Amino acid sequence: MNEYDSEIARTILLKNAFSIASKPEEASVILLNTCSVRENAHRKVMQRLSELQNLRSANHDLIIGVIGCMAQSMKGKLIEDGTGVDIIAGPDTYRRLPELIRRFETSGEKESDLILSRTETYSDVFPVHDQSVNAWIAVMRGCNNACSFCIVPYARGRERSRSPQNVVDEARQIAEQGFKQITLLGQNVNSYTYGKADFADLINRVSDVDGISRIRFTSPHPKDFPLKLIDVVRDNPKACKHIHLPLQAGNDRILELMRRTYTQSEYLRLAHLIKTEMPDITITTDIIVGFPSETEEEFLDTLHVVKEVGFDAAFMFKYSERENTLASRKYPDDVPEEAKTSRITRLVDLQRKISLEKNTSHVGEIFEVLVEGPAKKPYQSLGRNDGNKIVVFPNGRVNPGDFVNVRINEATPNTLIGELIAT
Ligand code: SAH
Ligand code: SF4
Repeated sequence: MNEYDSEIARTILLKNAFSIASKPEEASVILLNTCSVRENAHRKVMQRLSELQNLRSANHDLIIGVIGCMAQSMKGKLIEDGTGVDIIAGPDTYRRLPELIRRFETSGEKESDLILSRTETYSDVFPVHDQSVNAWIAVMRGCNNACSFCIVPYARGRERSRSPQNVVDEARQIAEQGFKQITLLGQNVNSYTYGKADFADLINRVSDVDGISRIRFTSPHPKDFPLKLIDVVRDNPKACKHIHLPLQAGNDRILELMRRTYTQSEYLRLAHLIKTEMPDITITTDIIVGFPSETEEEFLDTLHVVKEVGFDAAFMFKYSERENTLASRKYPDDVPEEAKTSRITRLVDLQRKISLEKNTSHVGEIFEVLVEGPAKKPYQSLGRNDGNKIVVFPNGRVNPGDFVNVRINEATPNTLIGELIAT
């Protein structure tokens, strides 16, 4: 979502007579687009801000701005605390960036706009994307859920959806630019709604766009995953066979404290249904360990679900207390750091084993791979299969955006390694 937002902010600036500097040393304005979902992201921004002060000693007129979620959630603190920030703008006020920059240039007074909107979707912006094979489209913004650990509703405001026609128009433009894959984004795509259209309808509409071969989406919430969406992923050939289904925790008491509004057995039933309908589906997830008051036994329930579902991959995090969230107000961050570390280590180890098993089971199979570019290893290319697995193979005459067939010979927890075969 942040990458997409950076593209939006950049496009707004380009349309207002700004241009992109090729390196920070040449810039007259530097904007950091920020995430505040975990403490770590927050720390990185503070670190980057202090590094930018060195550039300012070489260029006293350099304007530094912080935009996005961290600006929104820290509010005025960012421009007051001597962090050297001149401008702040939240996720709903990128349109005002040109004006905020020009006003600061003229007056030298710090500028901010942190109004959250109920309607802003940047639906007319159609951002300029980095040259690649995948383009993001945010089909909705904000979140109306109330997961107790999560800062997103505070940083991004209320939920709003774009019209299907508007999303299709953007998809058409993306296809004309040569992109092969679109990833539809929303904090909970299941709550996408516009007129009579739901998210499953939207996928079908986007799939009518010529030139787009693959459609991905993230994230659906397990509490209201519609059966219709399972049907569309199963039946629409352009819908990739990958579902990211954030679990967060496997214990009912913790899920309740997290306000996730599903239980372990409901989650397992949904995962089972998805796998029954689509035996080849890739399922990935997000997990938090060490939520306030989580006991060792309760953590073991998370490991149980991880084994039961057999996720292909997972993003795994230690709980990080975020200011103003319900959890930060109600539940002390009381799981000791050593326990969090021990839990995340065991979880990551287990997931690596499962990912390796899953990937090894594909050895000998042939996948259609969408080429993204060179791999890290010399003379190798990298792409993804329909299930979003990274596939590495020796260079042939391939270019980003090509579809090639690759036979898998080897597997690691994160990568399938294979060879090109003639089509
Ligand atoms: N809308 C998505 C989540 C977006 S945030 C959903 O509901 O699934 C991405 C991930 O960051 C979350 O799934 C969660 O695992 C993690 N996360 C969010 N807040 C966190 C916190 N306070 N501490 C640790 N991880 C957190
Ligand atoms: Fe945060 Fe929950 Fe909304 Fe996801 S659904 S963004 S975790 S509040």
